[in-house]
Amino acid sequence: MSAEEPKKQLFGTNGVRGVIGESMNPTLAMKIGLSLGTIRKGKLAVGMDTRTSGPALINAVKAGILAAGCDVVDLGVLPTPALQYIIKKYYDGGAMITASHNPPEYNGIKIIDADGTEMDDASTIELEKVLFSESYTIRDWKNVGTESSAHERINEYIDGIVAQFPKADKEYVIAADPGSGPACLTTPVILTKLGCKVHTVNGNCDGRFPGRLPEPSAEGLKALSELVVSTGAEFGIAHDGDADRAVFVDDKGEYVEENEEFALMLMYLAKNRKDKREGVVVTPVSTSFIAEAVAEKINCRTVYTKVGSIYVARKMLELEAKGENVVFGGEGNGGLIYPNHQHCRDGGMSAAAMLALISSEGKKLSELRKELPPRHMLREKIYTKNAAEVLKKTEAAFAGDRLDRTDGIRINRDGMWALIRPSGTEPFMRLFVEAKTKEEAEKFCNEIKSRIE
Ligand code: MG
Repeated sequence: MSAEEPKKQLFGTNGVRGVIGESMNPTLAMKIGLSLGTIRKGKLAVGMDTRTSGPALINAVKAGILAAGCDVVDLGVLPTPALQYIIKKYYDGGAMITASHNPPEYNGIKIIDADGTEMDDASTIELEKVLFSESYTIRDWKNVGTESSAHERINEYIDGIVAQFPKADKEYVIAADPGSGPACLTTPVILTKLGCKVHTVNGNCDGRFPGRLPEPSAEGLKALSELVVSTGAEFGIAHDGDADRAVFVDDKGEYVEENEEFALMLMYLAKNRKDKREGVVVTPVSTSFIAEAVAEKINCRTVYTKVGSIYVARKMLELEAKGENVVFGGEGNGGLIYPNHQHCRDGGMSAAAMLALISSEGKKLSELRKELPPRHMLREKIYTKNAAEVLKKTEAAFAGDRLDRTDGIRINRDGMWALIRPSGTEPFMRLFVEAKTKEEAEKFCNEIKSRIE
């Protein structure tokens, strides 16, 4: 048998993350900078979210990159998709200092490639190899990198989004909760430039996150819901800690579940696509069937990937390279990818796209939600130390169903589906079950649990 394929050890699906002062610290950040500067050439851009630990980490990453001989451009505080957009336009790669949706005590580092996508598994393994063996290049005085800053480039990201959409047909009122993260500098500006009147809550950059946690959960967005209702806004938008994700509350102040958000955006993008050939939508196997149901109605095919936005982004690029008409991609967690703009999750694009949807359909968001097929999703955990055994049992027990082995096992039946897959980090398996009604979902869920226990 061949040797086992090398795997990433330090980096997860979204970079390296840890609690500051424990597993994440400036020493590690500098080593990551050194390793990145060793395996890459040219000018690398760095940026950060609003966390209190950001300045210490970004300076450490910069020190490493410079010492290894690459130049550094500091883009300051900005959303992850803004950094990705600017890197794709101008630079040879870079790093984002962020812990995304994690609480304030966390921080982390995401590595971005020259094409603006997150670094792929092969390059990440190469970077880890340099890091673990401490085989980085440290240049002499004539060959160290030079540093500059370009904080104003965030405006190019804003203008790049605004240019994609028509100005709204009237002055819509919108409520925004950037969650004290870097979207404070972008989302209200994007919506204002598109002709909206914007009210904000948690609208000042603050890495202590005094108003709510960086994860935009329904419970955390009470203030946004109240703002929507009190101002008569069309919708409310909120972001996670680095604004690659966006979630919404409708005009009634109700949280829009993220799979519904996915389906609604798909509806807008697919209807308005310029290329009228069959469209392709790319999403992980964990996404609701309503996405596929909406896609079918507007002549789009759904392609499923492993769970993780990077797999979605890379699949979109691969299909485009084959000449396919890829119209949309993303995850059912508010991380949506607009291929006309760039191949990464982009919360600022979601703000503008939601406005365009409302204005082109001429309907309230709460009305549009009612047009989606009925559904009920259950999310459970199955505690086990032997995930492989559970998967084997599942495969045998459900051999009569249509099984998809892209990531874990997805069991497809008419009008319902379930996904069982190991957690990447903890001793349990995630079980998603979805059907048209709560009763059907519960029945299917119980059937799965009883047949694999
Ligand atoms: Mg994020």
